[in-house]
Amino acid sequence: MTQVAEYLRKVRAERRAERVDVGGRLVHPRAPHGSASGYQHWSCRCGPCSAANRSSTAATRATANDRVAGRAEP
Ligand SMILES: [Zn+2]
Repeated sequence: MTQVAEYLRKVRAERRAERVDVGGRLVHPRAPHGSASGYQHWSCRCGPCSAANRSSTAATRATANDRVAGRAEP
């Protein structure tokens, strides 16, 4: 494992441990809420972070599908 991957694994594990339960969702107090980064890098599962991640992955998937179907330039 590279040093960067090891660092990310450690940081994310620490951040996961810092989450608090808010109404049944694990929320990180210091995450940039409402961003896919909050969901992916901070493991924040609040409503705004989950919604941002959903639209981000949907956009990525749509781009990938277009590329496979030849509808977009790589
Ligand atoms: Zn959040």
